Amino acid sequence: MEILERINFLKDEINKANYKYYVEDNPSISDFEYDKMFAELKDLEAKNPLFIAPDSPTQRVGSISEKFLSYKHKHRLYSLDNTYNYEDLEKWYDKIVEEYGEQELVCELKIDGLAIALTYENGIFVRGVTRGDGITGEDITNNLKTIKAIPLKLFKPVNIEVRGEIYMPKTSFEKLNEENLKNGEKLFANPRNAASGSLRQLDSSITAKRDLSMFCYTAILEVESGKLKVESNKLNNFQLSTFNFQPDTPKSHFDSIMYLKELGFKINPNIRLCKNAKDAVEYCKEWDEKRFELNYATDGVVIKVNNTAVQEEMGFTSRAPKWATAFKFPPEEVTTTLLDIETGVGKTGVVTPVAILEPVQLGGSTVARASLHNFDEIKRLDVRIGDKVFIKKAAEIIPKVVKIVEDEEHFNRPEYSAPQKCPSCGADLKPHAGEVNLYCDNPDCPEKVCARIEYWVSKEAMDIDNVGPSVIEQLYSKGFIKNAVDLYKLTMQDFMQLDLVKEKSAFNMYNAIQESKTKPLSRLLTALSIRNVGKETAGLLANEFGTLENLKNASIEDLAKIEGVGGIIADEIYNFFRIPETVSMLEELENLGVKPAPPVQNSTDELKGLTFVLTGTLQNMTRDEASEKIKQMGGKTSSSVSKNTSYVIAGENAGSKLDKAQKLGVIILTEDDFMNMIRR
Ligand code: NAD
Repeated sequence: MEILERINFLKDEINKANYKYYVEDNPSISDFEYDKMFAELKDLEAKNPLFIAPDSPTQRVGSISEKFLSYKHKHRLYSLDNTYNYEDLEKWYDKIVEEYGEQELVCELKIDGLAIALTYENGIFVRGVTRGDGITGEDITNNLKTIKAIPLKLFKPVNIEVRGEIYMPKTSFEKLNEENLKNGEKLFANPRNAASGSLRQLDSSITAKRDLSMFCYTAILEVESGKLKVESNKLNNFQLSTFNFQPDTPKSHFDSIMYLKELGFKINPNIRLCKNAKDAVEYCKEWDEKRFELNYATDGVVIKVNNTAVQEEMGFTSRAPKWATAFKFPPEEVTTTLLDIETGVGKTGVVTPVAILEPVQLGGSTVARASLHNFDEIKRLDVRIGDKVFIKKAAEIIPKVVKIVEDEEHFNRPEYSAPQKCPSCGADLKPHAGEVNLYCDNPDCPEKVCARIEYWVSKEAMDIDNVGPSVIEQLYSKGFIKNAVDLYKLTMQDFMQLDLVKEKSAFNMYNAIQESKTKPLSRLLTALSIRNVGKETAGLLANEFGTLENLKNASIEDLAKIEGVGGIIADEIYNFFRIPETVSMLEELENLGVKPAPPVQNSTDELKGLTFVLTGTLQNMTRDEASEKIKQMGGKTSSSVSKNTSYVIAGENAGSKLDKAQKLGVIILTEDDFMNMIRR
């Protein structure tokens, strides 16, 4: 009985989630949790087949709404079985090998969008239908006609059904949410929901305004002649016959994709033909790392048997082809409970809220804290302590709270109100002009002072190894330091008085501080935390003035002349060096032996006036090394492509920056071109 109860519970939860996800485009749980429940249900049903109910979500695919006219698919659209681990992938392959021998596999990125079936008659687009529940979908032909990646007429007059994924580029998704926020409209949880919401609009002119695109991944070629009518509700992949037009018959999935390209469809360029499961695993590992460089969301890799004849023999289960499987990347997004909101004081005095979470696994690590940005963000999200929240982590970015789950209890929880006093020193908090953030303006606020010293020793600034936040807190609370200058007054004995510090680590810390005295000027300028002067600007200032003395004596005009500095920042820098506290601090540092090294002179000026943007992976050097080289030769680098970009250097698997460069007509260099340029 317990098992049946669990099955019913899982069925209900999954059905509820399906409705929110497929019909309302507003998921209530993360995909990872959904997949976990789904796998558990499948497992229980496999062990207890008598309990498999016809309405079980394991027996069907997706869901349909009643917004549009429904349309019964001619060929059923299936889902995919999925796994989160490589072992399962290898087991799936081994079983195929046992029965059919070694097989080539095609690896494709699994685009996290919306599955669509497009029908063409004699090469003319006649109908587009959502996947729906796989048997019946919604006819959204008019909306699909607004998407430029969908050809209205093909290069050849074929009768074909093509499946693919409609998606919204990440940058367009962010822009759409920004606009919606301004206009007080609904925010989408992720690009997939935004694509789905945009596509299922009753007014096509709204869809037309949204930036949607499509990658195609399945072709069902069928030609009806008087006698010959090939139809199959089984073949999800490829079906071919002849008529007045006779295409070259693709014998494999890979060839069919190339054929789609020839017809004028957009296919994903990262498709790869693999020899076996080992190669496929390599592909998955590679893209698990590189996926963040793409301007579209991918949640995994789809691995398909290449040989269409073998596909045909293998067939389908009730909801998925046996000849394909999806490897899902570790989740970027999970839900957990918000236990508390803590506040911290940063080096500028800015007070930021931090979400304290029920610990949860995300992207290979346990996450117990996440960023909430500022108090306005808390208001916008309406996060309340006790809420279930979605948290997200992308590449190396700190996890952040992206959305709450609006359950019934949410509205019974008290709204969060921003603190009025500094959590560290109790001073009144105030916003600074033109900013949403709250600040503690007490110069002696302990947390602010420690944050400044932590920044001073950080990798970005003076890069003093071995002296971490806990050491700084101890040094401060024991009264050894009141500011960063005091670091240079510390003796070995001072360190020895800290908890758990032995002679060797005391020596290492002392030594690292001494060594920092002659670090490059750009590092000292970064460490000084001048408002609006980060690492990049500090580098520009160091290059231009060479010594601290020259910089101190520079006029506002001298400063404003530097490209990338501008009037407001020039003012800030000029004023900074005239504050009495700065003057005495720099004097003290000099007396303590802090003598920054002048910048290395540009070895040449050959790239002067040129701005480069790097994208993709380079083979001969890292992107940082390439940037350094450009700077040494007098050029500049930028992280985004604009009209002012002179060249984009495109390495392997270059992403959205390459697309943008092509759109703007910016010159694109291969790595070889670039190597030749710097060797000249
Ligand atoms: P799926 O998304 O796991 O995989 C099948 C789909 O992958 C296909 O229908 C197709 O749309 C897509 N796809 C993308 N690239 C492809 C390619 N190159 N080749 C073939 N197909 C490709 O399965 P599904 O049935 O669409 O949806 C189920 C998934 O949706 C779940 O696993 C879950 O992650 C998510 N979901 C989440 C919730 C939630 O509440 N969070 C609810 C329902 C579903």
